[in-house]
Amino acid sequence: MRSYIEFLTTPTADTQGTTLLLHFDRKRYLIGSIAEGTQRACVQRGIKLTKVSDIFLTGRTEWANTGGLIGMILTLADVVGTQTEGTIQNVREKAERLLKRQRKANGDEQVERKPEEPVAAVERPTLTLHGGGNLTHTLATGRRFVFRKGMAVEVDEHEERDSQAKANSGDRKWEPTFTDENIKVWAMEISPSRTDLGSDASHIPATSRIRRKNSSDIFDEMQTDEPTLHGPGEPTKIERHQKDSKLKTVVSEMFNSEWRLDHLAEKSLSEVLMPAAIFIRDPKTGKISEYSGPMPQEAGSSGDQNNPVNDIKVLVRQPWPGALINELPPTSPSRGALSYIIKNHPQRGKFMPEKAKALGVRMGTKWADLTMGKSVEAIDGSMVTPEMVLGEGKEGAGFAVVDLPSEEYVSGLIDREEWKSEVIMSGVGVIVWILGTGVGKNEKLKGFLAKMSHVNHIVSSPDYCPNYLAFDTSAAATIQLFQLDPARFRIPIHDNVKVPQVEGSTPEVKNEPSLFQAAERGKRVQLHPILEVQDQFVEPPLNTANVWRSASEEVLHLARNAHNELQDGETKREIAQQQEDIPGQDVEIIALGTGSSLPSKYRNVSATLVRVPGVGSYLFDCGEGTLGQLRRMFRAEEVSEVLHDLKAIWISHLHADHHLGIASVIKAWHKEVWNGRKHLRSRDDSVVESHDHLEVLQEKKRLFVLSDHAMIQWLNEYASVEDYGFDKLVPLSIHSAKPAKGISSKMNWGDVLLTFSDADGGGSRELGKALLSAMGVSDVQAVDVEHCKGSKAVSITFPNGFKFSYSGDCRPSKAFAAIGKGSTVLLHEATFDDELRGDARAKKHSTTSEALAVGVAMGAKRVLLTHFSQRYQKIPEMEAVEGQVLEIDAAGEVDVARLPPIYAEDNDSAMPDVMVSDPALIAPMETNVTKIKKSASTDMKVGVAFDFMRVKVGEIIHLERFTPALIRLYEPQEVEEESQEAKSEVQDNKQKTKKPKREAKARQIEGKLDKKQNDARGGYIAKSGRDEPQEKEKGAVIA
Ligand SMILES: [Zn+2]
Ligand SMILES: [Zn+2]
Repeated sequence: MRSYIEFLTTPTADTQGTTLLLHFDRKRYLIGSIAEGTQRACVQRGIKLTKVSDIFLTGRTEWANTGGLIGMILTLADVVGTQTEGTIQNVREKAERLLKRQRKANGDEQVERKPEEPVAAVERPTLTLHGGGNLTHTLATGRRFVFRKGMAVEVDEHEERDSQAKANSGDRKWEPTFTDENIKVWAMEISPSRTDLGSDASHIPATSRIRRKNSSDIFDEMQTDEPTLHGPGEPTKIERHQKDSKLKTVVSEMFNSEWRLDHLAEKSLSEVLMPAAIFIRDPKTGKISEYSGPMPQEAGSSGDQNNPVNDIKVLVRQPWPGALINELPPTSPSRGALSYIIKNHPQRGKFMPEKAKALGVRMGTKWADLTMGKSVEAIDGSMVTPEMVLGEGKEGAGFAVVDLPSEEYVSGLIDREEWKSEVIMSGVGVIVWILGTGVGKNEKLKGFLAKMSHVNHIVSSPDYCPNYLAFDTSAAATIQLFQLDPARFRIPIHDNVKVPQVEGSTPEVKNEPSLFQAAERGKRVQLHPILEVQDQFVEPPLNTANVWRSASEEVLHLARNAHNELQDGETKREIAQQQEDIPGQDVEIIALGTGSSLPSKYRNVSATLVRVPGVGSYLFDCGEGTLGQLRRMFRAEEVSEVLHDLKAIWISHLHADHHLGIASVIKAWHKEVWNGRKHLRSRDDSVVESHDHLEVLQEKKRLFVLSDHAMIQWLNEYASVEDYGFDKLVPLSIHSAKPAKGISSKMNWGDVLLTFSDADGGGSRELGKALLSAMGVSDVQAVDVEHCKGSKAVSITFPNGFKFSYSGDCRPSKAFAAIGKGSTVLLHEATFDDELRGDARAKKHSTTSEALAVGVAMGAKRVLLTHFSQRYQKIPEMEAVEGQVLEIDAAGEVDVARLPPIYAEDNDSAMPDVMVSDPALIAPMETNVTKIKKSASTDMKVGVAFDFMRVKVGEIIHLERFTPALIRLYEPQEVEEESQEAKSEVQDNKQKTKKPKREAKARQIEGKLDKKQNDARGGYIAKSGRDEPQEKEKGAVIA
């Protein structure tokens, strides 16, 4: 049985962390960080994760190491859950067939019906996460937006004090902290110690010098040389266990709850907490319909005292249990960093039959038992142990994965007793070092390495590994687009050679022979049959020159034509004339992620940066990997500039593809704006706090985050796990406008309500004005849209008249068209092709034409389309749409019985797999089909967003000129990928017995698209952004 470890990622802009895959034939393990981008790197390299049973997280529990975890678990849960569903279906059908046969043979009454019994026996897979303190807490903060069934997730938080106590009490048997059929694991939690720091403390990461408000214990810890993990006044063991079990319950319910979507509970109307979807059962027919009578009072409102509701029995949906938990137990950042020593089990020696015979053991099962390691009885009644009949065994091969975020951790690591233990260290042939910048040059560490020169040392660190392009396909696509249209695209920033990545943290390898060899992606360490470092699997970085050379002459010719057209004096004058009335022509729109549901090879998940010169930068949605995309798009000093300018982040809704990158972006902003300075902060000025809202706004150094209340709650909650800069945010929960009723948006900043219109009472208008001015805008309006609970679309107006509207994910919305009236630019989702209007309706997204229809209804000058399905398309062809009839088929009749839940705890819940539509909240475009004609006279220009596209508002009009080149660019690729895909599909089919129906349907749709492409060249140009079946399954669920 072969086993090896492989480097999936080394630190790059795309993949911030180091992830290793430990491979056994039947089972896989991930070790290292699951940083943002890890999942996408696996998609890129075609590495399937369905066999992963355990993840061993190294380092500290912080977003840099856990940022990709939630996204990855969601995907795994979808894939594994779907597989389980399939198995259950098979088992059920088999049981039914058997039942039929038996009944046929024995007569109906003789055979009892028990088809559910075998179903219950189907094993539900479990994913176990091993890591340090706060890991359960980190996951539990996601309870408002994570809910899956079919795969259990368990968290095993290492408790160092317990295992240390064991070791100190003389129990030196060195029991592993984890063991299964393949491996033994010893976890080591290393605490930081200041003794490791030289006189120069400037390379301590700034975050470790700054204390979080109300957690002086962390600062105090750092004042002492004692490495303590838990300060005085920390909870007792019992308290900790109570807290842990509460958190564990939350996490287990997020993934493996018995709760059912369709469960309705009967309640008295007066007991129903509003807002909620209420149903009523007809006593005669038993049919369920929506309740439309007088409503119970909204919590907190005075209600209509004169008109009390009839207290009848109604049906309401029960919120899923996790969402009911409003607050998690308190915690503070955990400073312990985890490392592991991992070993294969020893191999038993060869069975020697002559010895067994001599000892009087009968041939047969007893011999087999001995080879399996069991003792048996000889003929004379004496016990024979395996050691007596087996040849010399072989120690299992092992390796260590050591994660040292900074030099503070070096002493703690090298002082560990484990290194001296023969039991643990025999067979360990490799140490993988995951090092923070500058750690590699630590003298103590070098001494340790020299002492351990008999093992291989492989280092993964930005000091030793270059910033190569980890997402080859996306990078290659961007290079091709750059060749086509250099005004809109650039070659992604990268360097395949230069180390260290950051100047000044030189690992000093120039003059001395390095004790380390650098990690590379694909590099393997074989453990069995023999321990060996294998470089033949290393995947070389993308050859950008080859990509460049591969450009088709025809495509380049078409692109040159477009370019020449735009250079033509006449065209220039024409364009200038057409755009006379467009404000903010120098505003730049930068597409960082334009795909839906989960990162694919071609497109990352949602994020768009809008740079308004002289005012600031604004980020609209912030999916996983957004910071990485910024670092590919801009050179380091430009990234600093963008972060410095960053004024506000808008999060449209709580689906994972829209917000999981926000913690990293805020952390980078915080580092840039608040402690990027060279001087050391003293204890006194480390916390700048002001409780006067106006004063805070005048500081001009704040970042505004605008979203639904649930998002703000997440930001607040996660701040107790990690100091990522929450204290310096202005978190704003936005209250939606109701344009039909003349109600405009308001915001809550903590308890303070801000209003933006003189007509609105009940809040602070003065603060509202100050806020808008601090944000650099003149108005912000948001409306609820039909997608999922808490989904909002937004319109932002700038003082120069430039108006930007962003849909987020939604069905076409009349309310959005109203607040977006006169938009300069509309950025609208267009997840589905027009042919898939049914899917768009079912999954609460928009089609291309629907998005354009919203633009027409707004009178938008320019429309950019984004959020494309990752399943089958690359770009929708605009030419085909031109002149056609655009239809808006809006929400239509709401099927009450199928209405997804709105919870009693309404503001606290948002679920990715449940689309919520509340007719009271949402104004659909029309209830009847409306036809809007995009006539030739409208001056609305349309562009399609690609990842890494940067376009000035005044140049969106240029985009359409490149369409012929784009069409040609994607044509040949399609054919080639088609055949590759067909091959992999065949392989997939061989492995899987039964594919889920969903997938079959998707294939059907794809088939239709292909036909359409072949027939008419209309509709969509290129298909197959589809990488792995799991994307498809995920896409169907969370987009
Ligand atoms: Zn989305
Ligand atoms: Zn969504």
